[in-house]
Amino acid sequence: MHRVFDDIRDRLGLSSDITAVCAAGNWRPAKGKLLSVLSPIDADLLAEFPIAQMTDVIDVVAAAKSAFMQWRLVPAPKRGEFVRRIGNALREHKESLADLITLECGKIRQESLGEVQEMIDVCDFAVGQSRQLYGLTIASERPEHRLTEQWHPLGPVCVISAFNFPVAVWAWNTMLALVCGDTVVWKPSEKTPLSAIACQSIVNGIAKEMNIPAGVSNVIIGGADVGQALAANRDLSLVSATGSVRMGREVAKTVAARLGRSLLELGGNNAAIVTPSADLELALRGIVFSAVGTCGQRCTTLRRLIVHDSLADKLLARILLMYERLSIGDPQDDGVLVGPLIDKAAADAMDKALVVASAQGGKVHGGERITEGVPEGGVYVRPAIVEISRDAPIIQEETFAPILYLMRYQLFDEALSIHNDVSQGLASAIFTSDVCEAERFCSASGSDCGIANVNVGPSGAEIGGAFGGEKDTGGGRESGSDSWKAYMRRATNTVNYSSGLPLAQGIQFELK
Ligand code: NAD
Repeated sequence: MHRVFDDIRDRLGLSSDITAVCAAGNWRPAKGKLLSVLSPIDADLLAEFPIAQMTDVIDVVAAAKSAFMQWRLVPAPKRGEFVRRIGNALREHKESLADLITLECGKIRQESLGEVQEMIDVCDFAVGQSRQLYGLTIASERPEHRLTEQWHPLGPVCVISAFNFPVAVWAWNTMLALVCGDTVVWKPSEKTPLSAIACQSIVNGIAKEMNIPAGVSNVIIGGADVGQALAANRDLSLVSATGSVRMGREVAKTVAARLGRSLLELGGNNAAIVTPSADLELALRGIVFSAVGTCGQRCTTLRRLIVHDSLADKLLARILLMYERLSIGDPQDDGVLVGPLIDKAAADAMDKALVVASAQGGKVHGGERITEGVPEGGVYVRPAIVEISRDAPIIQEETFAPILYLMRYQLFDEALSIHNDVSQGLASAIFTSDVCEAERFCSASGSDCGIANVNVGPSGAEIGGAFGGEKDTGGGRESGSDSWKAYMRRATNTVNYSSGLPLAQGIQFELK
């Protein structure tokens, strides 16, 4: 067995018998194909177990459906208490969970700690929200009538998550869903099942302590076929899916065919504009963190840099210098800033994109594989910068690796036009000291993305704001602000406390 994983498992109190399905608090084995979970750090085997099949979906959905009947009746602040206790348990296990995320998904320890902190933050947010599930009172046009809106629990919610944020995105959805009175079926990425199993086990423990119906939270580890079976299941009132645009299209089609609700958080093709008035030192730090963090495998990774012609050469030289100084290697080591790509397929996709970019006139800097001073078996790359024209078709694609396309502009309107000229619309940024440019970027005629930042890179959002994007990114909003409304259904109530029956719009309907 794997020494580091065994140690983390002991610290988290996880069973050595790893199974793919947890329905109503009971872990049970599945009979699908054998899944080998490899660490991207060195391709060492962490665990091996059969994953779920489509038939296993019935069990987890039934558990969530049955628990919903009770959970929806529990007062929301009491549901919040459950989430508060989950947040405390996450605090207690922060270090161990971060170690597991690093081992399983390869992000550096600082980022893994940040991911656990994000779960804790969203728990706190959801606890507060549990006392604020407000509806409106609306002025009625009829005398002695009360017109109100109430928010009710929606039903069992399915959460499909991606490998690069193996647990935070689950927490964004689940903590809000739980306080809203919903129950959850989680299908994590089959590339990162162990982090999911650890979180589910923590939730199971709190549910048991608090005597809460165990089926409020369920897990099923499977592939795209299981994801599709979940999307097709009419008992799931909302399917919240995070991942590639390709996956989102398939999920959206399946859910729409049953007229269900979906919440989509899909790929990005995020850009930053650097204008002549920008503070270059600040911009440089924002650019490098956003472009190479998580080895370019964040949905909000900076993929396109649109720089004013007058400073493009200078900025490029500074970025290249910083790229040379990046320490790339084992993400468990202090001081390492860039870990491995998730697998060889990701590195092949990066190589291919660089070849295509070059064929389309791009000048490539970096992007080579690194084999020295890194653990054997993992795939390590030097982040790449490609000087390229805005017309090169490759810049339209999200290659999930650290490739930054650099384009030059002369006029601010041109920069905005390059910025918005892609099909995705997740995160964006401008580096400028000119208030008019900053305001213009955030205005209706500026960035067309769900996230538009000024003097902050596109990556690394706080949980308090609604998170998500437009266009091919799917339009969903999760996490903060009023995202909770996606997890509830709204009922408009008209109560007549008069003795008459006046009709709306003054309609007369009397028997003669
Ligand atoms: P992916 O699309 O390959 O997989 C994501 C999840 O969807 C996995 O659980 C997978 O099993 C499941 N899935 C795949 N095909 C499916 C199908 N046909 N039906 C149902 N489920 C299916 O993505 P990935 O490689 O794990 O993650 C990287 C992608 O996710 C990138 O495009 C990234 O931008 C995106 N992402 C977006 C956000 C966001 O909030 N917008 C956050 C994280 C990642």
